[in-house]
Amino acid sequence: MNDLFPPFLYHSRKLERKGSCSGQVLRAAGEQKMAAHKNGSLIHIINRASVFFKNGSYRKRILLTSLKPVQCQRRAVSSIGDRNTNLTPHLSSNLAGWSYNELYELSVKDPETFWGSIAKERLTWNKPFDQVRDCEITSGKINWFLGGQLNVSVNCLDVHVAKHPDRVALVWERDEPGTEVKVTYRELLETTCRLANTLKRHGVNKGDRVAIYMPVSPIGVAAMLACARIGAVHTVVFAGFSSEALAGRIQDAQCKAVITCNQGVRGGRFIDLKPTVDAAVKNCPTVQHVFVAQRTTNPTPMGKLDIPLEEAMASESAQCAPEPMGSEEMLFMLHTSGSTGKPKGIVHTQAGYLLYAALTHQYVFDYHPGDVFGCVADIGWVTGHSYVVYGPLCNGATTVLFESTPVYPDPGRYWETVQRLGINQFYGAPTAIRLLLKYEESWVKKYDRSSLKTLGSVGEPINHEAWEWFYNVVGDGRCPLVDTWWQTETGGVCIAPRPAEKGAEIVPAMAMRPFFGIQPVLMEEKGKPISGNDVSGALCIGQPWPGMARTIFGDHKRFVDAYFKPYPGHYFTGDGAYRSKEGYYQITGRMDDVINISGHRLGTAEIEDCSEAYLQLAIHSYWHILSTLCCMFSFPCTTVPFAFVVLKEDPSLNHTAVVKELRGLVATKIAKYAVPDHFLVRIFILPKTRSGKIMRRILRKVAMEQTGDLGDVSTLDDPSVVAEIIKAHAQYKSLRSQNT
Ligand code: AMP
Repeated sequence: MNDLFPPFLYHSRKLERKGSCSGQVLRAAGEQKMAAHKNGSLIHIINRASVFFKNGSYRKRILLTSLKPVQCQRRAVSSIGDRNTNLTPHLSSNLAGWSYNELYELSVKDPETFWGSIAKERLTWNKPFDQVRDCEITSGKINWFLGGQLNVSVNCLDVHVAKHPDRVALVWERDEPGTEVKVTYRELLETTCRLANTLKRHGVNKGDRVAIYMPVSPIGVAAMLACARIGAVHTVVFAGFSSEALAGRIQDAQCKAVITCNQGVRGGRFIDLKPTVDAAVKNCPTVQHVFVAQRTTNPTPMGKLDIPLEEAMASESAQCAPEPMGSEEMLFMLHTSGSTGKPKGIVHTQAGYLLYAALTHQYVFDYHPGDVFGCVADIGWVTGHSYVVYGPLCNGATTVLFESTPVYPDPGRYWETVQRLGINQFYGAPTAIRLLLKYEESWVKKYDRSSLKTLGSVGEPINHEAWEWFYNVVGDGRCPLVDTWWQTETGGVCIAPRPAEKGAEIVPAMAMRPFFGIQPVLMEEKGKPISGNDVSGALCIGQPWPGMARTIFGDHKRFVDAYFKPYPGHYFTGDGAYRSKEGYYQITGRMDDVINISGHRLGTAEIEDCSEAYLQLAIHSYWHILSTLCCMFSFPCTTVPFAFVVLKEDPSLNHTAVVKELRGLVATKIAKYAVPDHFLVRIFILPKTRSGKIMRRILRKVAMEQTGDLGDVSTLDDPSVVAEIIKAHAQYKSLRSQNT
């Protein structure tokens, strides 16, 4: 393919490898530190309580209370190949040498000291903060690093350009295998500045919202950073969403501009993006400009709002003064589903989000300078924000942008990419792993995966079969596999097996341990915390942390109602969890009517809303658990949507045509991935309580074929409908099996 994609991003150079200049500089810094300690002939453990101040500063002359080796070198590989180097490089110089348990304890008992000292040292500030936090969780008041000013793009670009301008920042793994493009920190800064200047020239100012509807690409990353540079607020919309879904998000954010591409390329196919944007902006009066980048050479009609992005950038300066931003000013908003039909614009702010993304990136994945970090998420999801863009770039990492699919051109794509790019950390979704394990192991084994050091999973529970395959086949049983639990609202990983004490066990398919500052609490139905182990409950977090969302854009009441009202004094995650006998956490799934499709969150109400407006049908969709292995329904490993469709009693209705129409409807109104796998259109009465509430639990059990255990049905208005539904489901299954 003959691309016109930003010509100034085209450079072919060798990727910096382990032992690169920059890596040595950082390692040397660590050694010097240890040497300095040794020169004093003592290695210190300090009386911590006496040396830290609330604003994060600390006194250098400290009380020596005992001797303890400072951990500055890679630790021995444990039984499962875990380097577990969680203290190298240090969180901050004054926390060097602390163990995970000590650090965790400090982070929850004295968050001011913990976060204050780290924020001060790890972020570059225009103006230092004078208060570490001011939070009142019941009212959803969350403020960190007050009085401080910084610029996120400076922390992700300029600070690294100053030290190692030619280090590779991005490796764009394009859809076409073997055509990767490498972008250095200097080039990314220049591109970002040109784009930032283009936005400013067209009237985008601090505080304005900008929608980004682009595939994973250097120009997409530059668009995010350009917004950050000038203080505009980006809202990235996954480039698979329909025009209606895009319009809804643009309207909610009241965006002044949209940045898009003519087309996307995925799995060898071209996907038109500009026409989708055209259809969306027709209904978005706030949009003044649409900036159009060229991913392919195919022409796209340009209208009066449209500005060819590369052309506009070419005449702009490659320097742009960064806007100093208050810690709590908005960095971005990202829409995610709730239990109503209207997606929520989750707001993240500057300093706390960036610090949390960077810290989790380093410690959960055991990232080291010089590593090539491969998170294959799209920038349209929060995982792309935190672990493709902000976390890795803040840490000066080389981060991979994966544009393709796990099976293009064949099921070896991920592992061929690992070999070719020398990826050290590979972070993906269980849904892709489940897809890949169906193929011959040779698709993995034929590629050299010796560069891999950590594997990660996110988005939904990873079942045992997928975990074992990922760990044993991909990781050859030598790379720690971290099942990371977190959400759009949490900003970064909250529960994961790492960091942990040296050599600590990793239990398969469990998120396990809270990250620094995260205090998980399990609640019983009436809102009482559940103590002890081997218990299950609603997963809450007991105190604020810097990475958490600050509000829902334009609707703080909804924010408070959704997250802080259900369990006063706690953040409610919406998930259920089990605390094992050993005290480890396992996520058991959503507790509300939010479902998880291939790792993407979707409210059942959103699917239901689609149909009501159109066909005046009521669809009630549910996830249920199925197996990827035929006939093993008892082996839970994935969730698929199941729509129960109530039709008007009209014998002329053709059920097949209705299903076809509904499928198209959901794809148009939301996205293709949201289309339910199952449509059962034979039921005429849904199970309702006497107060008229549909008992979704019963439908879910029917879909899961667990009708022997329906629980209490005494509150049903007409309990006889249950037998009807079970019968209809059996007919549906039999018909479906005949057709497949
Ligand atoms: P999102 O905000 O779209 O990233 O979705 C967050 C939701 O995905 C969580 O509330 C969980 O329901 C689910 N989730 C994410 N990671 C995991 C995980 N490691 N294990 C289980 N569920 C997960």
